[in-house]
Amino acid sequence: MFIGVDIGGTNVKMGIVSKMGRILASTSFKTNIPRSPENLIDEIVVNINNLLTKSNLTLKDVEGVGFGVPGLIDTKNGIIIKAGNLNWEKVDFVKLFKNKMNLPVKMENDANCALLGESRFGGAREYNNAILITLGTGIGSGIMLDGKLLSGNGCNSECGHMVIQVNGEQCACGQRGCWERYASSSALTRRTIEAAKQNPDSKLNDIIKKWNGKVSAITTFNAAKMGDAVAKQLVDDYINYISTGLISLAWIFHPEVFVIGGGIAKEGANFIAPIQQKLDNFVKENNFYPSIAVKKTVLEDNLGIVGAASLMMG
Ligand SMILES: [Zn+2]
Repeated sequence: MFIGVDIGGTNVKMGIVSKMGRILASTSFKTNIPRSPENLIDEIVVNINNLLTKSNLTLKDVEGVGFGVPGLIDTKNGIIIKAGNLNWEKVDFVKLFKNKMNLPVKMENDANCALLGESRFGGAREYNNAILITLGTGIGSGIMLDGKLLSGNGCNSECGHMVIQVNGEQCACGQRGCWERYASSSALTRRTIEAAKQNPDSKLNDIIKKWNGKVSAITTFNAAKMGDAVAKQLVDDYINYISTGLISLAWIFHPEVFVIGGGIAKEGANFIAPIQQKLDNFVKENNFYPSIAVKKTVLEDNLGIVGAASLMMG
């Protein structure tokens, strides 16, 4: 048995996972930032013990604990270099955990975990060369080449900070024009709010008013489906931004598949098909390799836990 722990900015999700990728028991609790790593680890340890008891298992049944963390991770040394959402910097996380629970443990960036999970049990299963991106507040990414996760000099890839617009929008990383300023789901939300303000007579604005000003990236897709011209333009631009970044990555890494995760990927065919079309055109125009598949993540709500547990599956 394996334990997967997905530490998010809002919730910590964790569970016991079989080697077939099945979750036997799981739980979650609020991350409650700001919070010290030691304090969070204490709650994780309590929950591991509870989950084992509930499943009639003991620590001896656990082959290892995998942690998925949103941020820049030094995987060799088990150190969180920086996790902005958690407000942590330079945390000797693996050592802190081992002080509390002496089990085999590994930690990875959460998007890398997601790619491992999708590669073992989901949408990237048949591919040795895969890139996963998650569209959320920012863009997370994981790159697998020849069946091996790319970890550079001990760190994860951060494709979200690839510049697609010189002198573009200011990014939190200090650069301007980063991909995630245009293609993350929060970028679409931001653009949607601006466009609704500029087009008060649009259906998009009506929809937003109906929801008392609450907007998510899905709002834009829904309004586009209802035929609103402003929303359609936003969606077209958004698909363009995503595809532009994917094509740059395709030139560099030549993946066989792009797997896209994040709440917005649940839009399914509406979302994936136009991106697939752009990638197909790209491949055709340059005709140097067979095709690039575009898929959404398969594991969906289990992805965080199963992905983290996959770290320990060898
Ligand atoms: Zn950036």
